[in-house]
Amino acid sequence: MRHVIIGSGVAGIAAVESIRSVERGAAIIILGDDPHGFYSHPGLAYYLTGEVSDQALYPKTREDYKKLGFTYRKARVTKILRDETSLQLDDNSLLTYDRLLLATGAFATPLVVSGAALQGVVKLGHLNDARAILKLANRGRTAVVVGGGITALELFEAGRS
Ligand SMILES: Cc1cc2nc3c(=O)[nH]c(=O)nc-3n(C[C@H](O)[C@H](O)[C@H](O)COP(=O)(O)OP(=O)(O)OC[C@H]3O[C@@H](n4cnc5c(N)ncnc54)[C@H](O)[C@@H]3O)c2cc1C
Repeated sequence: MRHVIIGSGVAGIAAVESIRSVERGAAIIILGDDPHGFYSHPGLAYYLTGEVSDQALYPKTREDYKKLGFTYRKARVTKILRDETSLQLDDNSLLTYDRLLLATGAFATPLVVSGAALQGVVKLGHLNDARAILKLANRGRTAVVVGGGITALELFEAGRS
């Protein structure tokens, strides 16, 4: 039995743990396109304030992954070929599956106003975004946060520290 999970976020990793708890022998493959693999997204705001280090964003150790016994492949799935029970990956290779789980998460809603694509307009969804914000913060003196949710408040707090 080969389980393939698309998405290496917390849902993907939790799925590996659940499958492994009931199927000791199954092959499990996680496909993820985030270059940094699995890390804490909620931790990103604290990474920006400097309260959390780069390393502390990673809740699992190499040993934890080894115990779970799965294969991680950095790849973007470009097509699900349901009739052939296979996936097409961004390098054009195919990967077959017996069971497929989509754990592809959520994305920051793009700002649909003119100027949204200008340099210096950023979003916070992934570690690469946080790193880009830190670079800009070194140069800028004023920042405007658009949005009034919890992440916006955390960003505001980060800006004050
Ligand atoms: C700054 C910030 C603060 C947050 N704070 C909180 C909080 O305090 N509390 C809380 O509950 N939640 C918080 N969240 C939300 C929380 O991080 C998400 O709900 C959670 O990460 C969702 O996990 P997930 O595994 O479902 O999806 P994600 O973490 O989005 O993981 C999905 C993965 O799938 C990958 N993927 C998508 N499509 C493909 C494809 N075609 N091929 C390969 N890979 C693909 C994505 O790149 C991503 O790596 C916060 C999020 C952010 C950004």
